[in-house]
Amino acid sequence: MVDNPQDTPVGAEAPGTGLAARLRPHAGPLAVGAVMALASVPAGLEPWQSIFGYGLFTAGLLLWPSGRAVARAKAESRAAQVSAQDFSVIEALDMPTVIFDQDTQVVRQNTAARTLIGAYPERASLSARIRSPVILDLVARVVARGLTESVEYTERVPSERWHEVRVSLIANGSPSDNRLFVLTFRDLTEARRMDRMRTDFVANASHELRTPLASLMGFIETMQGPARNDEAAQTRFFGIMLEQAQRMARLIDDLLSLSRLEMRAHVAPDGEVDLGGTVAHVVDTLKPMADDLGVAIELDLPQDPITVTGDVDELIQVFSNLIENACKYGQTGKRVKIIVASTDEAGSHVTIQDFGPGIAKEHVPRLTERFYRVDVETSRAKKGTGLGLAIVKHILARHRARLVVRSTPGEGSAFTVKFSQSGLGKLSSSSELYE
Ligand code: ADP
Repeated sequence: MVDNPQDTPVGAEAPGTGLAARLRPHAGPLAVGAVMALASVPAGLEPWQSIFGYGLFTAGLLLWPSGRAVARAKAESRAAQVSAQDFSVIEALDMPTVIFDQDTQVVRQNTAARTLIGAYPERASLSARIRSPVILDLVARVVARGLTESVEYTERVPSERWHEVRVSLIANGSPSDNRLFVLTFRDLTEARRMDRMRTDFVANASHELRTPLASLMGFIETMQGPARNDEAAQTRFFGIMLEQAQRMARLIDDLLSLSRLEMRAHVAPDGEVDLGGTVAHVVDTLKPMADDLGVAIELDLPQDPITVTGDVDELIQVFSNLIENACKYGQTGKRVKIIVASTDEAGSHVTIQDFGPGIAKEHVPRLTERFYRVDVETSRAKKGTGLGLAIVKHILARHRARLVVRSTPGEGSAFTVKFSQSGLGKLSSSSELYE
């Protein structure tokens, strides 16, 4: 097998083959011998005597190669141990992999390793690119003992990344002075982030449930003790207890919604949904709430019906959350404008605009995070759970639709849901876009 020259790895030399390749390093002495043999003919010696004499001289030189040539030959032989076939296997791995010898000189590295730590110059030492003492100590230990070991390596700059770095001896029966080792990096970043998100989520969810629960328990104790015979207080407390229980129920409903959506995240919806009709239905159901808040809803529907591929119940949930938020948080603007329209290229969109206080720029990118609220007390007072926009985000991701948020503090906010005309699967994987 022949290495593709473009793929020749950094730190490795293509092993030479054939007589010419083997004699190439000795071209100097051979040439000198030949010239001297020819030059001695005029000096009176028989040609066979000159050739024999200088043949002996050249052979001596050939058998006395310099230390550098020995080292070079050794390195070549180590490189040759990782054949082109072995290398194509290493190259195919997406795990950054570096092969080095017992002098910690790099023999091979794959593209993933080049991307992660940079390309090694020829015959460079591992430490030319890897500076971490933790990794270099690991390398030294494995070279000394020959036993596989791994360490966890964390990088904080430019962003936090975790890797498991593993070094092991390649068991290929090489003599002890000609051993090769493999160093790999296993990326643990995603797993660590998921762990952290899960822990944060459980902590947040427990905290959100514990608050109303603590309040319920407090009232029960008060009614069993000091307020045992106070009927007026009891009536008031029952009202508050009902509110707290309802808050817990809303939280549990939202948490279950999120978990159901996560389970179906990879199943694309396949129903046909009339966008205008669905939004109009949501507006009808929310009208009593809007009236209570003193908010007028203006609905601008298209002349021709717009159909999108989707799940009608989930889209009802999206528009309910967005319209309810616009009425609740934009209440001071006294009106909410909803536009359902199709656009030439981008498909169709639904924009829900309020004229309330708006949202400061720094909060906008975080709105769809679970339990993220601009103001926790306002959200609680308005019966929010902090999960509404997280649910919206999950549903839209399943629909390959995007949420665009525009907000100007003091003037109001506009939440736009954009559907692609060409249906599911054509849009980028991004489910959100903030402006
Ligand atoms: P909540 O249950 O608290 O309403 P959401 O996920 O629906 O949770 O919204 C998250 C936060 O985003 C809200 O707490 C509120 O601070 C902010 N928000 C959402 N919609 C608007 C809006 N139209 N105007 C101002 N702030 C909003």
